[in-house]
Amino acid sequence: KKYNFNSGPSILPQEVLDQAAAAVHDFNGIGLSILEIGHRTNWFVDTINEARSLVKELMGLGDDYEVIYLQGGGTTQFMQVPMNLLDNDATAAYINNGIWGRKAIQEAKYFGNVNVVSNTEDKNNSYIQKDFTVPADAPYLHFTGNNTVEGTEWFTEPISNGVPLIADMSSNIFSRPMNFDKYDMIYAGAQKNIGSAGVTIVVVKKELLGKIKRPIPPIMDYREHIKAESLLNTPPVFSILVSLLTLKWIKKEGGLEEMEKRAVARSTKFYNYLDESNLFRPLVVKEDRSRMNATFTIDDKTLENAFLDECKANGMVGVKGHRSVGGLRVSMYNALPMEDLEALISLMKNFEAQKG
Ligand code: PLP
Repeated sequence: KKYNFNSGPSILPQEVLDQAAAAVHDFNGIGLSILEIGHRTNWFVDTINEARSLVKELMGLGDDYEVIYLQGGGTTQFMQVPMNLLDNDATAAYINNGIWGRKAIQEAKYFGNVNVVSNTEDKNNSYIQKDFTVPADAPYLHFTGNNTVEGTEWFTEPISNGVPLIADMSSNIFSRPMNFDKYDMIYAGAQKNIGSAGVTIVVVKKELLGKIKRPIPPIMDYREHIKAESLLNTPPVFSILVSLLTLKWIKKEGGLEEMEKRAVARSTKFYNYLDESNLFRPLVVKEDRSRMNATFTIDDKTLENAFLDECKANGMVGVKGHRSVGGLRVSMYNALPMEDLEALISLMKNFEAQKG
């Protein structure tokens, strides 16, 4: 088995993999594979409803919120959010902290106006700006909770001036307890902390919807998905099961408090080594470093390539930075065992001793 530092799809708990594999053969002992059952059978309806209520439970949210499972990944949400919430003549507030936020901004411009209230491109998105002003008449403020590519993370909510807050939490959802009730909408592709690719969780405060003039095609309309309890059309049945299994694993392991403890332990250990290293250089200012994705570099690119070869030879995958920024990146999602990270750090130390 490899050491998996991929940014997503990424590492899943071994027991989730085992349970998912068993369900492919025989789902809950019913004599059918999860891949074979109808999505409107009680077998599946119970599965998706359990997953939806577990999301709410882990977030500690009440009946004013709805949880839906959608397809199309985080990227579709970049478009679906403004389609549902931004009128042609209105101006939404967006934060540009990196590649995913910029994609969301580009998509929003198809539907209305965008006011980029914070932009950290001046320093390669290596920090989070916390002081900026959001116009009170913006229909919402959109931001990326964790910048998977650049390696920065928000540890408090942005000050939104009373404007509804929308977060793309694709890469840090359920990595720690958060003030989920401060958000009006949260979305996340499942393939990092909450399952496998193919399904996206959307959590939305009901009162946010139905306020714009644009007619919305039903398949794109959050209200239709809420009404149909995420069964408007055939959902990705298997991905939703894997999501349920992953959510149950989080709960069983001790919930979000335990996920945070582990994330702090892993990221502290990793960044401490980066800070003391004379070879590897972290890219993000200390206070904004992501607990999920650590970005760093070796300034000598020949050595960086040699290091990647060394990782490959030792079964360590996913250490190369995103193609848009280069460098190195280590993802440390919920399911990453501390021993795997320690094995990588020890490889880095040996490499530094030999080449540094
Ligand atoms: N948002 C963030 C923060 C991401 O990290 C990613 C992908 O890695 C996306 C959105 C895009 O997600 P998808 O590929 O599911 O569309």
